[in-house]
Amino acid sequence: MTSSRFDVAVVGAGPGGLAAAEAAVGAGARVALVDGAGQPGGQYWRHPAGDLDAVADLHHGLKTFRAQVRAVDAATTFFGHQVWTIEKVAAGFVVRAVVAGTEVEIAATSLVLAPGAYDRQLPFPGWDLPGVYTAGGAQALLKGNQVLAGRRVVVGGTGPFLLPVASGLAARGAKVAGVFEANSPLGWVRRLPAVLPVAGKLTEGAGYTAALARHRVPYRSRHAIVAAHGTDRVTAVTVARLDRDWRIVAGSQQRVECDAVAVGWGFTPQLELPLAVGCATRVDVDGSVVVQVDEAQRSSVPGVYVAGEACGVGGAALATVEGAVAGRAAAAVATGRAAGAGAVPRRLVGQRNRLRAFASAMHRTHPVRDGWRDWLTDETLVCRCEEVSAGRLREATDELGATDARSAKLLSRAGMGWCQGRVCGYATSCLVAAWSGRPFEPGAAAERPVAVPIPLGLLSQHPGT
Ligand SMILES: Cc1cc2nc3c(=O)[nH]c(=O)nc-3n(C[C@H](O)[C@H](O)[C@H](O)COP(=O)(O)OP(=O)(O)OC[C@H]3O[C@@H](n4cnc5c(N)ncnc54)[C@H](O)[C@@H]3O)c2cc1C
Repeated sequence: MTSSRFDVAVVGAGPGGLAAAEAAVGAGARVALVDGAGQPGGQYWRHPAGDLDAVADLHHGLKTFRAQVRAVDAATTFFGHQVWTIEKVAAGFVVRAVVAGTEVEIAATSLVLAPGAYDRQLPFPGWDLPGVYTAGGAQALLKGNQVLAGRRVVVGGTGPFLLPVASGLAARGAKVAGVFEANSPLGWVRRLPAVLPVAGKLTEGAGYTAALARHRVPYRSRHAIVAAHGTDRVTAVTVARLDRDWRIVAGSQQRVECDAVAVGWGFTPQLELPLAVGCATRVDVDGSVVVQVDEAQRSSVPGVYVAGEACGVGGAALATVEGAVAGRAAAAVATGRAAGAGAVPRRLVGQRNRLRAFASAMHRTHPVRDGWRDWLTDETLVCRCEEVSAGRLREATDELGATDARSAKLLSRAGMGWCQGRVCGYATSCLVAAWSGRPFEPGAAAERPVAVPIPLGLLSQHPGT
């Protein structure tokens, strides 16, 4: 099925895509807004179908969200449409989406891509047990389905995202047995010049801290969940104190009973669609591959603008500003109206610079350090889909001669399963680099020509793909 032609197609209806669609509509463009989810909101404003009020207390910035949703009324929305690829054509782009196994083609002169990110994971013994969730997964269950991951939950990993996860769980009645932050938040003190200008973040952080205190949730820095235990599902974790490199301090291990675990080590930008159209990338402060954009959020491909986590993980406020810039610029180019209308307002440039500086401070305060590799045993699964253990991956490097993540994947099958390396790709790249003595390759798992699963029959209609 082919839709009518648009000036701007926006892919992603999270904070970045919604702001882009709002700005493009405001600039007089005909806009298509496409998202695989059934409603707008993305990861940040996730809510049960049609019932935002049910989880309003778990959200920030709902005034912005509601205003954006009203504004994009003037756009043509394609919710529940998963974009599997995008083609460049003479007149612009064709966005190919699937809905109920059928393809919909959306043609547009300009594109704004705001596909967001997914949880970055590190393996540890027992992380494959039922009841061990990513921090984002536990949060998505709570905000999207009003379901608690467990009654007694342990939260761990690194980064400020652990705070909303723990306080959300506690607010809905879970006993949070502890938040274990592997880095030291004192690192923020050294970076105050990047923090102070972003007052909203300070208020948000203070709110979470107060909520954790109110619910008597213990918070331990320089601690990590280093193993999960149980037979059919998780029943306890081992928590340990870490040294500066994240090696376990001998004798510091402690067992904590729980029925669920939420672990997160930051986020990995979702790059399939920007890579499908050929956008150039760069490596961000946190070691993630991100799309390279200029001041107007323009990528290296003419007509393609990118906003939000795909340009560097930085949170919803930054995604919103980038989206506003991208939508405006994409509309100006596509409609050809008012030359110069695409110039970026100084107010937005200032906001973006402050939020980007905050994001860099966050990545520097909460890096992933090398010592996590020592938590693994030979039996620890690295790739859960294909059940590839650390021992088998090591064999691929030490005995079979793999020197990069791709050859290790071919020799061990790590990253070849259902998730196509989204879960294990980062860890596999880190381990292979360390064991083969080669440099870490951050982008090794990001190139996937088919962005989402599609029926084989559909693929066969595109022999050139
Ligand atoms: C699981 C999870 C939960 C999170 N929860 C929080 C939270 O509670 N608080 C917080 O501060 N931060 C949270 N974050 C971080 C959050 O992602 C960002 O700060 C913010 O949402 C970024 O906005 P965005 O517009 O860049 O991306 P997103 O909000 O992620 O929006 C991207 C949108 O693109 C759509 N999309 C992606 N690929 C396709 C495709 N191929 N076809 C169609 N649609 C597509 C997705 O469905 C999604 O709606 C969470 C992240 C994750 C991964």
